[in-house]
Amino acid sequence: MAFVLTGAVIVEDRGSLISYRKRCGSCGYIEGGSTTSSAPLVGAVSVGSFTCQKCRSINELRIQG
Ligand SMILES: [Zn+2]
Repeated sequence: MAFVLTGAVIVEDRGSLISYRKRCGSCGYIEGGSTTSSAPLVGAVSVGSFTCQKCRSINELRIQG
């Protein structure tokens, strides 16, 4: 089971696959479309970044397995 450290909200957790929506830490905007990816291994952290569509802030995305 994965959980978000920063930058997203999980909408579906299917064990090895997770779906999440990116959430901006600056303005709170949540992207409309969800992203599906494989869940990180237990104890590992998946790191990425994205630009907010609303305020253009660059956000860090961290999901821990
Ligand atoms: Zn924003």
